[in-house]
Amino acid sequence: MTYRPSDTRYDSMVYRRCGASGVKLPAVSLGLWHNFGGDSNHENKRAMCRTAFDLGITHFDLANNYGPPPGSAEEAFGEILRTDLDGYRDELIISSKAGYHMWNGPYGEWGSRKYLMASCDASLKRMGLDYVDIFYSHRFDPDTPLEETMGALADIVSSGRALYAGISSYNTEKTREAVAILDEMGVPMLIHQPSYNMFNRWVETDGLKDALLDLGVGSIAFTPLAQGMLSTKYLNGIPTDSRAAQDKSLDKSLITPQAIDAIKGLNAIAEERGQTLAQMAIAWVLRDGGITTALIGASKPSQITDCAGAINNLDFTADELARIDALAGD
Ligand code: NDP
Repeated sequence: MTYRPSDTRYDSMVYRRCGASGVKLPAVSLGLWHNFGGDSNHENKRAMCRTAFDLGITHFDLANNYGPPPGSAEEAFGEILRTDLDGYRDELIISSKAGYHMWNGPYGEWGSRKYLMASCDASLKRMGLDYVDIFYSHRFDPDTPLEETMGALADIVSSGRALYAGISSYNTEKTREAVAILDEMGVPMLIHQPSYNMFNRWVETDGLKDALLDLGVGSIAFTPLAQGMLSTKYLNGIPTDSRAAQDKSLDKSLITPQAIDAIKGLNAIAEERGQTLAQMAIAWVLRDGGITTALIGASKPSQITDCAGAINNLDFTADELARIDALAGD
């Protein structure tokens, strides 16, 4: 049956300005790292994208290597754009990235102009798009001059392959350098994509969060749920359909009795706030305006609905924050 997006899709989602730019992003964005590859059920992928869009989630995040196999998440999303989201391109912010291993040989990863240009073209082809909204350098390359990587991003924007440029996981020092280089080229850096959640606070200790505010660069926090640990799913063991059980990127050994105790304590705070733990984890990432959007992943549509509900309570008392800090920290 033909999908028709919900008429109420813009009624409740919150949209937050991305740094000093003109673009706003939904408070919750959807990433296609896991569960969108060639090894996953296509109807479930379609259902997740439709659910997200119906909830006002306008931002979908991809990368060249998402799968498995690498490239297959972009192919699947291209198919969904054709079958379900045709006619809605101007309501979507679609991103892709290059930086990690994509093909063999010396030009298939890291930050050379050779790799970024070829990879961006291949991503566009897989998704059937003329342009992506955001194109990222996925990781800092210590062996390529930053001028070359940023020059490639600037040319990707000026050639119309992307509307905006971004970087992912660069530390504060390299972020400041990258922003300055792009500025000189007349292409403002739109956004930084770092990992950030209650268990992983490097963006605070490194000063990145403050630096981005200072620079007027927006931010999108990946793994806000610590890959699912900041939810109730591991409270009674490791479910067979979970990321940890399937030997994906979440290492089972992280789910220790101490971690479960902390998660139970956090869950009690979430319940007092009238939220699920996943919702509280997302609200926490967004709590002080320092992060533009929380970039979640999902394995089923109901998780996306749950996560989008985070926007109903984004404020914390000082006491709640102190209790969270006592339970969860780096
Ligand atoms: P999350 O921390 O949001 O973890 C997602 C997982 O949490 C889901 O797959 C699911 O686990 C579980 N989950 C989600 N919602 C709920 C819920 N409501 N209740 C219970 N469990 C839930 O993020 P990801 O690690 O998936 O990363 C998100 C995105 O960030 C990626 O898709 C990608 O776009 C981006 N990313 C970027 C990186 C970079 O280097 N720039 C690196 C990693 C990610 P389960 O599958 O077990 O059901």
